[in-house]
Amino acid sequence: MAVLQLDTTVIIIGAGPAGAGTSFFLTKYGIPHIVIDKETFPRDKVCGDACSGKTALVINRANPEWLAEILGDAQSFLPSWGITFVAPDGKALDIPFTLQRTPETPAPGFTVPRIALDDFLFRKMTSPLCTIFEGATVGSIERTGDLVKVGMTHNGTAYEITAPMLIGADGDKGIVRKKFSGLDTIPKTYAVGLRAYYEGLTGLSKDNFIELHFLPELLPGYLWIFPLPGGKANVGVGILSEVVRKKKINLREQMLHAIKTNPQIAPRFAHAKLQDKIQGWGLPLAMERQPLSGDNFMLTGDAACLVDPFSGEGIGNALYSGMLAAMAMQQAVEQKNYSAAFLKTAYDDVLYKRLGDELRISAALHKLCRYQWLFNFVVNKAIKSPSLRNTISAMFTNMDLRDQLRKPSFYLKILFNR
Ligand SMILES: Cc1cc2nc3c(=O)[nH]c(=O)nc-3n(C[C@H](O)[C@H](O)[C@H](O)COP(=O)(O)OP(=O)(O)OC[C@H]3O[C@@H](n4cnc5c(N)ncnc54)[C@H](O)[C@@H]3O)c2cc1C
Repeated sequence: MAVLQLDTTVIIIGAGPAGAGTSFFLTKYGIPHIVIDKETFPRDKVCGDACSGKTALVINRANPEWLAEILGDAQSFLPSWGITFVAPDGKALDIPFTLQRTPETPAPGFTVPRIALDDFLFRKMTSPLCTIFEGATVGSIERTGDLVKVGMTHNGTAYEITAPMLIGADGDKGIVRKKFSGLDTIPKTYAVGLRAYYEGLTGLSKDNFIELHFLPELLPGYLWIFPLPGGKANVGVGILSEVVRKKKINLREQMLHAIKTNPQIAPRFAHAKLQDKIQGWGLPLAMERQPLSGDNFMLTGDAACLVDPFSGEGIGNALYSGMLAAMAMQQAVEQKNYSAAFLKTAYDDVLYKRLGDELRISAALHKLCRYQWLFNFVVNKAIKSPSLRNTISAMFTNMDLRDQLRKPSFYLKILFNR
């Protein structure tokens, strides 16, 4: 069979949020690229469907009109104004994402079924600088000299694509990390999650607060209830894989048991209907710094293990890492330097400078969640103390304040009401 030869500057494998984020900014910088995905869009992705301010920030930077489109599309996107933490003892604490809300303030977060979000992002990649192959099969990846070659088949045609740079945006089970980098030998910290769509669930907040229920049997993981447009909800559980293995937990049974019997949760599901199969997928957590690049390649999103260890948020970090990878690429093109040493400085170091603190705090919080009594204590104090609630609310945007959560002095101050 004849093999078609294509040349470009960047090959991106994966057209989820990480791949789309990379593509948006490569287009902004005038860099030609080819995006390859094995699926055909719209495609589903198992997820909680909750997007934080970071997702909105990157989309807005890519194109403010796109964010306006999202905020105006009530059928697919539901604005969310806060989060409800339910402590292991069942007490609920409502924390708004912002304390300065006016009628003009856009909602800091939103929920959207991934099938809709990823399709929205996929369609926005369209540009004369971006060639997309969906439903394509990548057969080989190799590096020769200072070039990467990707062998691919698409609609029965074989291609060999050559470029100085390859971006692995191919998710948790990605092939770039495995085949190309040798990073596969670095152990990942995994969580596993289940997702179910329900209709007819009651007791959802009027401001669409997302809910995290820290049930004792799931610590340091949680059960979530995220309201979606059309009165639907995304319900799921997320927990460390290691805990599932050690305690031999049947996650599906555990989730359905909570839905049936938990005194806070069960009554709300009395007339709710499961809409689809319950599905599971892994979350590669950013528990510690890992190499994200090497000669002629960078990893983004889940392929780079960038899921927030506390919140389980990965969409925002996938888009954000894509944006930073494109910025690094702009410098690499200017300097014609695609070496591991250059990319470590231009990409890895920049990413960890911007996200490192946040990820370190989240990793520490994730560990603290093992202590039920501490969780109950903070939530119970905050329910009674408006100033503590405000402090926790401000932690969504103020990293120094959030860092307090790692320090014993924060808990002592609460204890003595200072
Ligand atoms: C149960 C669960 C709940 C979650 N809840 C949330 C949440 O509420 N909010 C949040 O922000 N994050 C959440 N996450 C994390 C979030 O889903 C991921 O972090 C996010 O999808 C990462 O985006 P990505 O682009 O890196 O990878 P993906 O979204 O996985 O996209 C990767 C793309 O690469 C393609 N691909 C893979 N292999 C190949 C190949 N060999 N060839 C070609 N293409 C390939 C895939 O088809 C896919 O389109 C959750 C995850 C799970 C599992």
